[in-house]
Amino acid sequence: MGEFELIERFFKRPVRNAVIGVGDDCAIWTPQPGQQLALSSDMLVEGRHFLSTVNPRHLGHKALAVNLSDLAACGAVPRAFLLSLSLPRVDENWLSDFSQGLFELADAHDCELIGGDTTQGPLNISITVMGEVPQGQAILRSRAQVGDDIYVSGHLGDARLALEAFRGNLSLPQAVFDLARSRLERPTPRNVLGVSLRGLAHAMADVSDGLLGDLGHILKASGTGAVLSLPSLSGLMMTNSLWTCPQEWLLRCVLSGGDDYELVFTAPSASRRQMESAASDCGTHMTHIGHITAEPSVRLVDESGAVQIASFPSFDHFA
Ligand code: ADP
Ligand code: MG
Repeated sequence: MGEFELIERFFKRPVRNAVIGVGDDCAIWTPQPGQQLALSSDMLVEGRHFLSTVNPRHLGHKALAVNLSDLAACGAVPRAFLLSLSLPRVDENWLSDFSQGLFELADAHDCELIGGDTTQGPLNISITVMGEVPQGQAILRSRAQVGDDIYVSGHLGDARLALEAFRGNLSLPQAVFDLARSRLERPTPRNVLGVSLRGLAHAMADVSDGLLGDLGHILKASGTGAVLSLPSLSGLMMTNSLWTCPQEWLLRCVLSGGDDYELVFTAPSASRRQMESAASDCGTHMTHIGHITAEPSVRLVDESGAVQIASFPSFDHFA
């Protein structure tokens, strides 16, 4: 099968909202009046972001999920995406499963594949997403204010737990491993919540490289620091419902785990009730984990009130 037949067979679908989709030199898109475009790219590289043994359907899901998560973090509604694929060979079963996982998530978010590029080479998947957000309403990293509450959506740390088990660094009961693995391989981007926080949250980022690192981006951009409550963090792993995670892994996974694709955001404490109803209307779990301070450090406070300065690094490809 040649390149064009491959595109036609696995990636070309009838156009929905685009003016022009797959098949011409450019895709053409008309934004709705009053909307700004939000654009983001994320690449998944075999051996770096996933193992060669991963289920291709899960890989298709994850490649798009990590991109949708960036739109969620800005409060943008997903609209369309471009897919650049480098493939070692044409494996029809692999392509069929990959495109199925990709389109299941795309359809759930009404996000349309409008173009891309396909080449032979090491397995590498790069997606560029495009969303729309009303003029001036994108939620940025730089607007946290002293005194804001800090929240996270959903659960943190389970993906890292699965990764450590894959690496042989710890052994997990089967049910714990299965749940943790599903969090690593099939993350849930929080787009509905992200959009509903427009006009409520001051600052937001998605948690892809670990909570401390991604919250750190908000703190740096806003010129602030934070105090986090350790008891509120220790309940954040989804696998907590199945077992008691060893203490030395718990905080490492929650604070600097990575691959969570949750949202971390800040809002004035006066809006606490509205924040809670926004999260419950979306059916998304939300935890209040601390507050923004003028002092620029990140301090962790335990049950007894003892304070320590956070010292878990976030993930850095070049560190
Ligand atoms: P060009 O010759 O301009 O580089 P291509 O021949 O690479 O264009 O692609 C032909 C058409 O197929 C274009 O519309 C392009 O956007 C689309 N396309 C290529 N690869 C993919 C892919 N993996 N998924 C979706 N569309 C793709
Ligand atoms: Mg091309």
